[in-house]
Amino acid sequence: MTDHNFADTFRHKGLRKKLVESIRLKGIRDENVLKAMEAVPRHLFFDSGFLEFAYEDKAFPIGAGQTISQPYTVAFQTELLHIKRGDKVLEVGTGSGYQASILYQMGAKVFSIERQRVLFSRAKEYLPKMGYSVKVFFGDGYKGLPAFAPFDKIIVTAGAPYVPEALAEQLKPGGILVIPVDEGDSQLMTTVEKLPDGRLRTDHHGRFRFVPLLGDKAND
Ligand code: SAM
Repeated sequence: MTDHNFADTFRHKGLRKKLVESIRLKGIRDENVLKAMEAVPRHLFFDSGFLEFAYEDKAFPIGAGQTISQPYTVAFQTELLHIKRGDKVLEVGTGSGYQASILYQMGAKVFSIERQRVLFSRAKEYLPKMGYSVKVFFGDGYKGLPAFAPFDKIIVTAGAPYVPEALAEQLKPGGILVIPVDEGDSQLMTTVEKLPDGRLRTDHHGRFRFVPLLGDKAND
């Protein structure tokens, strides 16, 4: 992401196509998710020295002790969101901005919160230059973004110890929250759907490994 060369070469496109095919083989079915992943140049979210890692199906360090999520995990979480054009989506954990760009590419209006100042500033500077018009905020994702609520969809991209009440509150009726939950080594991918009558329905979708969702920066 600190690379100022935004080139997306034939080679990059070829590597990306292969990556997307491997994700399809791992079980991702939503063509809109796969199309978005084929369109967004993941290597632009890496420092220039690490470009060769961009099209492996692996998480990778992005600085500040954080990671860009594994492509399969990005696809899995995005598929669970059932994104429709025009959906208003909140992401907690901007990180590199890659997941937010996938959502934008799918036609969502994206709001994203990051609590690490350096990652927030980088995403805020670079996402518009790459053509991804995502609204990035510096703050604590546990609190959501009450000023812009309610949201059609909410995605949390770090492992949370529990489902923050503020996030469930900020969902529209019919809305979906996707959040990995657990304090241990791995998290249970969890969906919380707000039913039309306001009740919450929780489902689980297997275990994944995430960096932890951290509390308010002021408490570090
Ligand atoms: N979605 C990111 C991407 O596409 O690159 C990857 C996210 S990384 C696995 C998790 C991110 O959540 C980190 O950038 C971390 O700083 C951020 N984070 C952790 N706790 C947070 C909190 N309370 N509020 C907002 N962001 C938080």
